[in-house]
Amino acid sequence: SSEMSDEVAKAKEAAKAFDLSSSDGAGSDTVFDKLLSGEWPSDKVYEDDKAFAFRDVSPQAPVHILVIPKKRDGLVSLSKAREDQKELLGHLIYVAQEIGKKECPKGFRLVINDGEEGAQSVFHLHIHILGGRQMNWPPG
Ligand code: C5P
Repeated sequence: SSEMSDEVAKAKEAAKAFDLSSSDGAGSDTVFDKLLSGEWPSDKVYEDDKAFAFRDVSPQAPVHILVIPKKRDGLVSLSKAREDQKELLGHLIYVAQEIGKKECPKGFRLVINDGEEGAQSVFHLHIHILGGRQMNWPPG
């Protein structure tokens, strides 16, 4: 509909192009691989052996940071998570709250967009940290 934002339209196109029905998108690198390898520059805010965090290039709030696993390992989206990845998922959320409370002491929001209707556009799991202003609800 004409109500659809550019971001959502882009996400829907990306979901179709990526073919989420394939098991893990093996072989389909994303832009995040280029940021992780340093091939493309990124505004890094945190890194450890498993997680990498950087400022979103298209910030939707004064603070907009993405936390991603360094190894995608099938985590093209949250809904592809395997049971043996629970500890990694917990680690990523822990890292996100460490960054969130430091960057946004008055509060913040974590978002994970999943699949076409979730408006996911990059198929490498990422947690959005949003804050630095009053967030609204419902999110739309
Ligand atoms: O949840 P979703 O998949 O839509 O989020 C992808 C995010 O990755 C977007 O917020 C987009 O701005 C960000 N991005 C980025 N750097 C890129 C490509 C996308 O920060 N080079």
